[in-house]
Amino acid sequence: MSRRQKACRELLASGMEDFEEKLFSFLCDHNGLVSMDRFKNLLEETGLRDSDFRLRETMSKFRTVLERQLHDENELRGTVDKDTFLDCVSDNIVVISKALTSQFVIPEFKPFTDIIDKIYESCKDNMQGLPAQYIPQLARGNPKHWGVSICTVDGQRYDLGDTTIPFCLQSVVKPLNYALTLNDLSPEVVHKYVGQEPSGRSFNELTLDYQHKPHNPMINAGAIVISSLLKKGLVIADRFDYPQKKDEPDLRFVQKAMDELRRLAGQEHVSFNNSVYLSERATADRNFALGYYMRENKCFPPEADLVETLEFYFQLCSIEVTAKSGAVMAATLANGGICPTTGDNVLDSQAVQNTLSLMHSCGMYDYSGQFAFKVGLPAKSGVAGGVLLVIPNVMGIFTWSPPLDQWGNSSRGVQFCEELVANFNFHNYDNLKHTNKKYDPRGRAVESKAQDVVNLLFSAFNGDVTAMRRYALLGMDMSLADYDGRTALHLAAAEGHEPIVRFLLDKCGVNAHLKDRWDFTAYDDAKRFKHDDIAEILLAYMKKHPPADGNTKIDDVSTKMAKLSA
Ligand code: GLU
Repeated sequence: MSRRQKACRELLASGMEDFEEKLFSFLCDHNGLVSMDRFKNLLEETGLRDSDFRLRETMSKFRTVLERQLHDENELRGTVDKDTFLDCVSDNIVVISKALTSQFVIPEFKPFTDIIDKIYESCKDNMQGLPAQYIPQLARGNPKHWGVSICTVDGQRYDLGDTTIPFCLQSVVKPLNYALTLNDLSPEVVHKYVGQEPSGRSFNELTLDYQHKPHNPMINAGAIVISSLLKKGLVIADRFDYPQKKDEPDLRFVQKAMDELRRLAGQEHVSFNNSVYLSERATADRNFALGYYMRENKCFPPEADLVETLEFYFQLCSIEVTAKSGAVMAATLANGGICPTTGDNVLDSQAVQNTLSLMHSCGMYDYSGQFAFKVGLPAKSGVAGGVLLVIPNVMGIFTWSPPLDQWGNSSRGVQFCEELVANFNFHNYDNLKHTNKKYDPRGRAVESKAQDVVNLLFSAFNGDVTAMRRYALLGMDMSLADYDGRTALHLAAAEGHEPIVRFLLDKCGVNAHLKDRWDFTAYDDAKRFKHDDIAEILLAYMKKHPPADGNTKIDDVSTKMAKLSA
């Protein structure tokens, strides 16, 4: 390590230590203790889950402390002192400081999820469409099921509704298989067998392009050819260590593929639905017809076995995820192939780019053109009601609801995507600077001094201590005043928000003698609006911390009020 690198590292470490100290002092109560739940809530508000692998050490130390406290009557349950707190957070301080200083891709997570809540609710009322009818397992789908999961490229999570029920990926597996295949074989090899054009025809149409190749990997013909290539890739890579049981379907390849899909999902839920697989296979006349037609046209690599390839394809369609695990898959695509929740580099970034390009033009069956026009984002839907949506460099979203529209896309899923880009400037061709009707949740809330004042005062006015704590951690000047000389302390005192007043005085040490343009101090405001307890706190503080000019005289508020009305 060079001397310069070493110095930088030390500097960073000292900054972190400083941050840990600050964090403790903003969180501790008057006994010098921090509540572990309160700390977890603070992180949760930024979108970080306590199950996040980046918080593993901190959470495991918290658990050890809690266990010890269960057996020790003298210890206060659920709280930690300074040394313990610093010890618990220090291992994971990088992600903690990133979260608490608004450095995640969605810095203000709550306002963002508030809008997501509204969109979710409005789609819930959409009763259009029916679950897919071609096999009983899908026809039995509950039309009321509706789930939305979000995972950002920084691992911020949000789930609404039915997000833990497994369902089959069906066609959503197509872009994932394509990406995995590109990881094993070069795009040149893969595209010798499959094109890149929208077919303009139905997803299971018996048709090939002018070069006698399937049009693209997102329709059945293309996905079947990709399955033969993926299988070939799995063999070449020699990652084949599942034993085959006698007289049972050969599930070895799909288990291998599932291992890869599980990595995409950050090791979250990926399972296999055998009865869907058997039904798919039993009702697959069209896919067999496609297979034979393509074999006649020499669409497959020479060593591919047609029936094995088709069976592998049906198995891939029968892989299950939940909206939650699917959102992590989508986020891995949004993050250039690196899973944001585990840091696992699953896919090559070029493979991801190629996959997103084709999802953009071909991912939503015969609605793909309209979807690209209206939503402007790469997505893929499947007949079980899933929609995988990618906002590149920002987040992955997975929606699930079985009723399908006339194109075979989830009715609620499509509505959700359309409302999403109506609210946020996520459309690929949204102008990020001048589209002022839409909200950009990527923007750092703390941008300029003027914006700082607005945020600070707004939080003080609303009694939002959590936001105040975050601003303080960001290093914001907590005594900032607006054009009229009003500070956060003035507003908190006038509105009667005692916790904010205490926080500003005890933790931030703000100047309580500042006067607004009408000559009022925060103490005057507490008096004027009859918050006597707060007035007392302020008075005691002002006496303890006299102003720089040494003038300790506290003016009578009624004189000032009379002056104001005169
Ligand atoms: N198993 C379906 C088929 O190949 C996939 C349908 C889909 O989700 O588009 O027919």
